Amino acid sequence: MAEQDETNEKLLTEIRILREKLARLEDAENSRGRAEEALRESENRLRNLTTAVEQSPACIVVTDLKANIQYINPQFVRLTGYTAEEAIGKNPRVLKTEHTPPETYRQLWQTITSGQTWHGEFCNRKKNGDLYWESAAIAPITSRHGTPTGYVAVKEDITERKRMEEDLQFRSIILATQQEASIDGILVVDGKGKILSHNRRLVEMWGLPAEVIESRSDERALQAMEEKVVDPDEFLRRVKYLYEHVRETSHYTIALKDGRTFDRYSAPMFGPDQKYYGRVWYYRDNTEANCYRSLLEKLSSTDGLTGIANRRRFDESLEREWRRAARTRSPISLILGDIDFFKLYNDHYGHLAGDDCLRQLALILAGSTRRPTDLVARYGGEEFVCLLPETSAKGALRVAEHLRQGVAELGLPHAHSTVAPHVTVSIGVATLVPKPGQPSSDLIRRADELMYEAKRNGRNQIQSA
Ligand code: GH3
Ligand code: MG
Ligand code: MG
Repeated sequence: MAEQDETNEKLLTEIRILREKLARLEDAENSRGRAEEALRESENRLRNLTTAVEQSPACIVVTDLKANIQYINPQFVRLTGYTAEEAIGKNPRVLKTEHTPPETYRQLWQTITSGQTWHGEFCNRKKNGDLYWESAAIAPITSRHGTPTGYVAVKEDITERKRMEEDLQFRSIILATQQEASIDGILVVDGKGKILSHNRRLVEMWGLPAEVIESRSDERALQAMEEKVVDPDEFLRRVKYLYEHVRETSHYTIALKDGRTFDRYSAPMFGPDQKYYGRVWYYRDNTEANCYRSLLEKLSSTDGLTGIANRRRFDESLEREWRRAARTRSPISLILGDIDFFKLYNDHYGHLAGDDCLRQLALILAGSTRRPTDLVARYGGEEFVCLLPETSAKGALRVAEHLRQGVAELGLPHAHSTVAPHVTVSIGVATLVPKPGQPSSDLIRRADELMYEAKRNGRNQIQSA
């Protein structure tokens, strides 16, 4: 029995030992499984990382501590043209004809050897000799225990961006030069009333104080301009209108209190996306040109001998007023006066005296009308006209009588006149309300007929109808 117990005891111990062994084996098996899984995971991670590095649009270069290349990704090959065989083991500086200043390399080396990441730009050459720009981040890499093992560089091709920057810079130089060389004063204002740019000429023309320009405020610039113009309300009204109607362009002549005149052109700025960026204002000092222009206009519409309006101006006024009378169905009158026996006057007193007579008569005529729309003009040699818009036959007759009397009272001696001892005129007065389609020449013809009637009837008189 005791022997049996002993045997059982042994068996139990063996079973226990076996169990313990089994448990240990199971433990070992489990931990091997875990280790294998961890290995698989880290292998996966590494594979993913490798894919990311290989597929990256950035160039990735890994070097050892001496900066000799250990790894390059495919993007590096694509960008530089160097194959892995050509690059591995080489220093990137040896590989390429560097265009980067040595100072940049000194800083780069200092940064990465002190354990920090360096950010900067390089200009390099590809294998085929083409230059390219890259933006780089270079960082030291270390082993698991923190020992430095080398460096990694992540670089992006920025050649296109650099080219655009250079292009932009070039264009802005052209623009700035053009702006400063311009004979126009130029002001550029954004959509919120901020002055974006201006030139020296603008400041000179308007005498803008420095603090106004420094404020970059269009409102303050306008205030300064407003003080100098003859009609500030009109000036501001037009500016406001243009800011409210962004698509409009405009041309406007501004009169300044000091006698100068500025031509102002304004155009909106729209981007290709039709976005509104503000407005450009150009000011050109046209004082001299405008002086000549108004002088020329005055000369081309004035009679040289008498200084009153000439036939050209009369024709234009007649057309305009005739149309207006037709529209408003109102009467329009024309007085036509012709000096009596003027040929004889010239023959007796001489041509110069005749001229003088014409001048004096013109003065009388010019003084005989009242309304600003009335026009006195020299119609021909010694024939004068007086155009009276919106005037009835009765009113016109009164003016004609005033005129005839004025000439008579002038009392210019006329020894050869058979109607009076002084210069006299025969006058025809026509009044019409234009019918639709009726030509204005009807009014002249009628006045002419009446004037000849006055001649036939004995001169120095008025005929009207
Ligand atoms: P009537 O009473 O019929 O009008 O006689 P008239 O002599 O005035 O006749 P008419 O109208 O035909 O003559 C116009 C004259 O006016 C002819 C010309 O010697 C003179 N005359 C026209 N223009 C000028 C001018 O600019 N200066 C001078 N001095 N004389 C002029
Ligand atoms: Mg005549
Ligand atoms: Mg005459």
